[in-house]
Amino acid sequence: MTADEQFVAPLFAGVDVGGTNVKVGLVDNQGKIVADTKFPTLPNEPPDVAISQVREELNALIETAGFQWSDVVAAGLGTPGPMDIHRGVILTPTNLPGWHHYPIQGRLADVLGKPVTYANDAGAAAFGEFWVGGGQNYSSMVMITLGTGVGGGIIIDDISVDGANSHGAEIGHIVIDTRSDARICGCGQAGHLEAYSSAMALVERTKEAMGNPDAGTVLRDLIGETSPLSALMVATAAEEGDPLAVKLVSETAVYLGRGIAQLAHLIDPAVFILGGAMNFGGAASPLGVKFLNEVKTEVRRLVFPVLGERLVLNFAKLGSEAGFVGAAGLARSQYNRTP
Ligand SMILES: [Zn+2]
Repeated sequence: MTADEQFVAPLFAGVDVGGTNVKVGLVDNQGKIVADTKFPTLPNEPPDVAISQVREELNALIETAGFQWSDVVAAGLGTPGPMDIHRGVILTPTNLPGWHHYPIQGRLADVLGKPVTYANDAGAAAFGEFWVGGGQNYSSMVMITLGTGVGGGIIIDDISVDGANSHGAEIGHIVIDTRSDARICGCGQAGHLEAYSSAMALVERTKEAMGNPDAGTVLRDLIGETSPLSALMVATAAEEGDPLAVKLVSETAVYLGRGIAQLAHLIDPAVFILGGAMNFGGAASPLGVKFLNEVKTEVRRLVFPVLGERLVLNFAKLGSEAGFVGAAGLARSQYNRTP
């Protein structure tokens, strides 16, 4: 490499395909971001256009940063599921109707002329946290991502657990409620964690709770024609001490704790990381800290004492760059394993 000494060779490219943007980054051998950019996803267009643009954006990033194309030895790619990771095919993601059944891994590898490692977007983000974020210095990690849905990633000794059918870390769909009237998940099945702990679930549970006329809350006054109820609205009301909002956030913590308790017994990871947009302000906010403590309390109530005593549960450290950094990190792991 000829560019700045501050980066450690070789470089890896990371590509994170989302419903809104495709993020592209160059990452060095220690997980440091060299350069990154993003461009809008065209969800209804054939993905060949986006794949070509990835190559162009990478060319520009490499040139601007003062490197050569040969300094990049491999690339990682994360996309929304469902997908067939082993065959490298994106299947039927709801947000990307034009991309269905596209052999994305092979096409990207052809266009880049580099080996490409393929991962679920949540798995890639988890790997980013494991490599250089909240999971750094731990041998194993489970990440739970709370957003519109609930996603996750399981990393054990540098390996992302994808499973035989590419559904190995579907943490949002573990069953936490087997009652006949359990809530229905976004996937259509009943009682899944996502149906209780996602942002969408929080909104649904809040609407139901507001249906009780005795439940006093400022939320009724905040909702308008142009401002429908959102998880952020509930979080803000809870921060300001609104009793109903506080109760709903605490219930979210309890549901999440039930899911994590199962994962603790199943995997016993060295660290659990909570990522995603719905973090109630994270470690910097009293509400975020309270939420985390309530999750821990519920986990400890349900697990073996030793697992409760040694429970490590923290918020994620990386922001929206976790996906492409983790994709690059997965490419690096694969590169280092290849003789
Ligand atoms: Zn589900």
